[in-house]
Amino acid sequence: DAAVAQVQGLIRDIPDFPKPGIIFKDITPLLGDAEGFKTAVDLLAQDLQGPVTEYIVGTESRGFIFGAALAYRIGAGFIPVRKPGKLPSDVYACEYQLEYGTDALEVHRDALGQGARTLIVDDLLATGGTARATGDLLRRLGAEMLGYSFIIELGFLNAREHMTDAPVHSLIQY
Ligand code: 5GP
Repeated sequence: DAAVAQVQGLIRDIPDFPKPGIIFKDITPLLGDAEGFKTAVDLLAQDLQGPVTEYIVGTESRGFIFGAALAYRIGAGFIPVRKPGKLPSDVYACEYQLEYGTDALEVHRDALGQGARTLIVDDLLATGGTARATGDLLRRLGAEMLGYSFIIELGFLNAREHMTDAPVHSLIQY
């Protein structure tokens, strides 16, 4: 598909970032390319099927970029899921495992109403820890989970095997 190839051509590999041995997928060339960025958001929008999406949930911080653009594109609200201590009102928090230690994500308790139809968006799916923590937060809010959408999926990490609560979609797989 030409549109997917256009997006893929704007993602570059950065070896040894943030640590030796890791090849980081850098999306900043995609963000900086007016047509490529628009194509990426349009592709995310095209993949939506079924009931109307009322909310996009984006995870700090690259999930904000694609999530907010997609929300505007489809006429949905945007809900930020943030690192601890950033959101000003009452939150739910979910801890999740990193390679070494734990991290946490938070969402406002009043971010959405029971049964609100919600899609999680992030730039990249790796181990799935971030996405699963975001899914846990949405369940606590009582949201109806429509799915997870990513620009990039590192398929060799098999994250989607552990994400059985909602459909997982990605534009580009490695
Ligand atoms: P996971 O929790 O699935 O292991 O990691 C995914 C999260 O880490 C996403 O929020 C994503 O933004 C970030 N991430 C991990 N590796 C990369 C990478 O190579 N490139 C980019 N752009 N983000 C990454």
